[in-house]
Amino acid sequence: MSVELTRLTAAELAEKIHSREVSAVEATQAHLDRITEVDPVVHAFLHVATQPALAAAAEVDAALATGNKPASPLAGVPLALKDVLATSDMPTTCGSKILEGWRPPYDATVAARLRKAGVVILGKTNMDEFAMGSSTEHSAYGPTHNPWDTSRIPGGSGGGSAASLAAFEAPLAIGTDTGGSIRQPAAVTGTVGVKPTYGGVSRYGLVACASSLDQAGPCARTVLDAALLHEVIGGHDPLDSTSIDTPVPRVVDAARQGAEGDLRGLRIGVVRELGGEGYQPEVEATFRSALSRLESLGAELVTVSCPHFDYALAAYYLILPSEVSSNLARFDAMRYGLRVQPSLDSSAEEVMAATREAGFGDEVKRRIMLGTYALSSGYYDAYYGKAQKVRTLITRDFAAAFEQADVLVSPTAPTTAFRIGEKVDNPLAMYLNDLCTIPANMAGTPAMSVPAGLAESDGLPVGLQIMAPTLGEAVMYRVAAAFEAARNAAEGGPLIQRLENGLGVPV
Ligand code: GLN
Repeated sequence: MSVELTRLTAAELAEKIHSREVSAVEATQAHLDRITEVDPVVHAFLHVATQPALAAAAEVDAALATGNKPASPLAGVPLALKDVLATSDMPTTCGSKILEGWRPPYDATVAARLRKAGVVILGKTNMDEFAMGSSTEHSAYGPTHNPWDTSRIPGGSGGGSAASLAAFEAPLAIGTDTGGSIRQPAAVTGTVGVKPTYGGVSRYGLVACASSLDQAGPCARTVLDAALLHEVIGGHDPLDSTSIDTPVPRVVDAARQGAEGDLRGLRIGVVRELGGEGYQPEVEATFRSALSRLESLGAELVTVSCPHFDYALAAYYLILPSEVSSNLARFDAMRYGLRVQPSLDSSAEEVMAATREAGFGDEVKRRIMLGTYALSSGYYDAYYGKAQKVRTLITRDFAAAFEQADVLVSPTAPTTAFRIGEKVDNPLAMYLNDLCTIPANMAGTPAMSVPAGLAESDGLPVGLQIMAPTLGEAVMYRVAAAFEAARNAAEGGPLIQRLENGLGVPV
C-alpha cells in the first residue's frame, strides 16, 4: 500500500485524500517510510520533520472529516522544501556549517503559503552551500546521490529537492533558481522544474544568494503537478519589494489544455546559440527528437538568434559573485548560527574572520573573493559595470526572439548527470553546466525543464528547456504539457517509470 501511494502523482494523491479514500496521515506516513528506507542511500534530506508533518496531515484530515472543502487542490499532499527557505519549526542551514543549528524566527512566504494550502512539509532538502553549485557536492553535509545512478550527481544547487522526487520520497518539492538550480537538477533526474518570472514568487524568507536573480519555484514529476504547486506559491507579496502585483498566470488551465496535445498556431524558437558543439552528442540527439515531436503536435519551428547569450555565463559569474559578496556579509558571527572565538580576548574582527574561515566552504569563499574583486573601485567599471551592460543586451535578445516565437527551446544542460567527484575540483567545468539556464535568470523571464528522453550510452535523463516571455508561464506550461503527453503516449508512459532499481530498493 505505502509503496503505491509514493508512486502517485500529487494530483492523483490529492484526489484520493479529498475523496477520503486515503487519509493525509497515511499518505504522509508512506512518504516518511520511503524516506527511512532510501534516504540513507540518496541523502536528499538534511532534516526530516516527522512529527510536524504528521500533525499537519492530521489537521487536513480533521478539516475534511467535518465536511470542509480542502484548503487547496493540494491539501494533504507531502512536499520536500529546499533548505534555503526559512521555516519557524525546522532548522534552516542553506547547506552551510555557518548556519548549523539555526532556527529562523519566522516562515518564508512560500512556506507560509504551503501550510495555508494544507501542503504537508516533510522536511528540508540538501543543496550546494548557499545555492552555489551544480552538483550538490558543495553541501557542507555531504553530497546527494542521483536515484538513476547513485554514483552520479543529482544536479545543483537543488539536488536534494530533485532527488527526493526521483526517489519517490515526495511527489512535490520546492527549489530556487538563480542560474539554473531548479532546471538543471530536474533535467538530470528526469523530473519537472520551473523557474517562474522574477517577482512571480515571493523571496521573503528565501536566504539570498544573488537577489537580482533568485527565484523560488515548483519541482514535481509531472507538468500538471508543477502547475498546481505554482498556483499555491505564486502571487503578490507586500513583504518582497520585487514581487509583481498581478494575478498568478493560469498555469493549471494551461497545463490541462496542453495535455490535449494541440500546438497548432504556436511558433517555437530554436535558439541557435544553445546546443551544438561542446554538448554531449546524445543530449543534442534527444533535443532534435524533441523538436520533431513538437513539430508533429502542430507547432511551427523557427530558428532564432540570441547573439549575446554567448557572453551570459561570463557576465553571470561576475554579477552573481558580486551580489554574493555583499549578501553573505551578514554572516558575521554576531547574528546567526556559528561563532568561533579564537581566544578570550579576540577582537570582533578576529571572531568574524575565524567564524567565516571555519563556517564557509571553498566555493562560497571563492565567490566572495571573485565578487569583492569585481566590485572593487579600480575594477568596478571593467567587470561589474560591463557585466550589467551584457545583461541588458541579453534581455534585448530575448525581446527580439519573442517577436518571432511564442516560446524558445534548448537543451536544459549540456550533459547528463556526471559522476560524483568528476568536476568538483574544476570550478570552470562546473560553471559550464549553467550555459543554457543562465540567460533566463539574467532577463528575469520564466523557464522550465521537462523530461525529454534517456541518453543511450548511460541510460540517464535529458531535459528539454522551454523559455517564455515575462509572465508568459501559461504558454510555457501548455507547450510542456503537450510535449509530456506526446512523449508518454509514444514511449509507453512517463520517463520516471523507466527508473530501474538504481537504489537497490524497489521504486
Ligand atoms: N550553478 C549555478 C551557480 O552555481 C546555480 C545557482 C543557482 O541557481 N542557485 O551559480
